[in-house]
Amino acid sequence: MTTLSPTSQTRLNSCDPRFHSIFNHVATIMDCAILEGHRDQEQQDADYAKGKTQLKWPHGKHNARPSLAVDAAPLPIDWKDRERLSLFAGYVLGTAAAQGVTLRWGGDWNRDFKVADNRFDDLVHFEILP
Ligand SMILES: [Zn+2]
Repeated sequence: MTTLSPTSQTRLNSCDPRFHSIFNHVATIMDCAILEGHRDQEQQDADYAKGKTQLKWPHGKHNARPSLAVDAAPLPIDWKDRERLSLFAGYVLGTAAAQGVTLRWGGDWNRDFKVADNRFDDLVHFEILP
């Protein structure tokens, strides 16, 4: 059984409490890291300029306080391993659903459970839907 690192916990603490429950469970099954929770205006502007996000401040779900989005990945992180990121995402989505929370994943924005039609991949991104 694994747990989140202190750095990951700190980042998770900037997120909606529903994420705490989801990722503290996921971390017991798959060793993982929280990469980002709340994102301030400076970081959002920088990410927008780099094309890492399509939304300007304050419209990103990471810009809410607490954050309604979290970036997380299984360890060790391999950004090119789409299959592993997808497996992780499936586990996260299922864990959330079991807790009554609907998430949207950046590998399937339209939530049709098809990944080939995803035009903007953000495979570590999860956000809470209303
Ligand atoms: Zn994100």
